Amino acid sequence: MNASQNTLSIDFDNSYVSLAPEFYEKLNPTPVSSPSLIVVNDSLAGLLGIDPDSLRSEHGIQVLAGNHIADGSEPIAMAYAGHQFGNWVPQLGDGRAILLGETLATDGQRYDVQLKGAGRTPFSRGGDGRNWIGPVLREYVVSEAMAALGVPTTRALAAVTTGDSVLRETGPMPGAILTRVARSHIRVGTFQYFAARQNNDAIEQLMHHVIDRHYPQLRDADNPALALLAAVIDAQANLIAHWQSVGFIHGVMNTDNCSISGDTIDYGPCAFMDTFSADQVFSSIDRGARYAYQNQPRIAQWNLVNLAQCLLTFMHDDQEEAVGMAQAAINEFDERFVHYYLIRMRAKIGLLDEQDDDLALISSLMDLMARHKLDFTQTFRQLAHRAPDDPFAPGGDLHDWQLRWSQRIDNCAIPLSESQRTMQLTNPAIIARNHQVEAMIEQAVNEQDFSAFHALLKAVATPFERDHDDGPFAAAPTEQERVTQTFCGT
Ligand code: AMP
Ligand code: MG
Repeated sequence: MNASQNTLSIDFDNSYVSLAPEFYEKLNPTPVSSPSLIVVNDSLAGLLGIDPDSLRSEHGIQVLAGNHIADGSEPIAMAYAGHQFGNWVPQLGDGRAILLGETLATDGQRYDVQLKGAGRTPFSRGGDGRNWIGPVLREYVVSEAMAALGVPTTRALAAVTTGDSVLRETGPMPGAILTRVARSHIRVGTFQYFAARQNNDAIEQLMHHVIDRHYPQLRDADNPALALLAAVIDAQANLIAHWQSVGFIHGVMNTDNCSISGDTIDYGPCAFMDTFSADQVFSSIDRGARYAYQNQPRIAQWNLVNLAQCLLTFMHDDQEEAVGMAQAAINEFDERFVHYYLIRMRAKIGLLDEQDDDLALISSLMDLMARHKLDFTQTFRQLAHRAPDDPFAPGGDLHDWQLRWSQRIDNCAIPLSESQRTMQLTNPAIIARNHQVEAMIEQAVNEQDFSAFHALLKAVATPFERDHDDGPFAAAPTEQERVTQTFCGT
């Protein structure tokens, strides 16, 4: 073994700690009793310029567990506030997550490296600052599945068990820590935290930090606040269109879980749909169905209104003028969302040019999927691998739709083979199906066996591969296997 394999070294380059002290609390993770490695993400480590073997070393595991502070790391808990299910909470913050620092990756991008479940912080309120193995494995698999599907998201670098148990409603559960990687952990709620405290200096500092970090093209904007708002609106519209196109339901779209960079963040009670239903909800705590599939665009827009409110002062000296500007930007959300949604959905049904009634064609397929209780993923996958004149449901309204669709494809000036190729690269065989996620968590908890976790993780990493179609992970759940509720499990 060479030296690099014995010692984890991350080339930290921390910028958030240079912001004003009210942005964070400096503190180290709380040590755990006997950490053990579950998994390391070799390719992500490579992207970050970290030797994956060093993450697996004894020293690496101690760092991933928060028992040892790596050179260059300046651990902090970030301050933020937010609206939870529409209710204002003036102080949230990293209650169980600790940012180790930032690093510049081989793709030129700056990334946060954060431990989730690393112990109590000044923001923990009544919580224990810990995570158990269920949410850690769920976030690991689902975030990596999203990355493989091309959806903007935080990533998972590693997971360890702690050797300590964590008390949850269901009793003592094995503790675990996820190492999460994100372009940043700045949320709408970060702006709200300072707006609620009328701390304009902090908002201004945050605004410039965010522009430098995520939207450098806006550095010379005439009205940086307005330009930033428009950019975040665009990024969120793109993100939600991605979610809709893969049947992903986030489940807790609170403003503190709405990232400024436009990445999916905070995989709590999230799930991919099996059978399509526009009003599908998975989260056990979302009793009002606020965050149902079909509400996701509207809720994102609601979250962005809250961001706009934080930026008003910087848009114009005259409050009324500022409100008018912000409102105009917010009104753009619908148009931006439909724009991105059509990009995703046209590709899913193999349309390589644009016609006026494409949205109607897509919507009628969705209606039919709901009426016939079809599996979301498989319906699109079948379109991708069949000739348009080979009906997947002979006779009836589905067949009628298919005839409409094949006429539309015929109208394209582009060869059918290209349409099919696009569909095959766009419609996955594999999503992280909820029943499989739950089953692998159960195996890990009850049998201390991570083989189902590793198998599922491997499958979701190559979602478009033809080999999967007849494999175990592509199948929709049977009625008995179906899991329709998820628990936040914090
Ligand atoms: P989440 O629902 O994961 O987005 O978390 C909402 C807020 O609750 C954040 O401020 C978290 O840091 C905090 N939180 C969640 N779980 C815990 C926990 N076990 N201990 C302390 N704080 C927590
Ligand atoms: Mg959160």
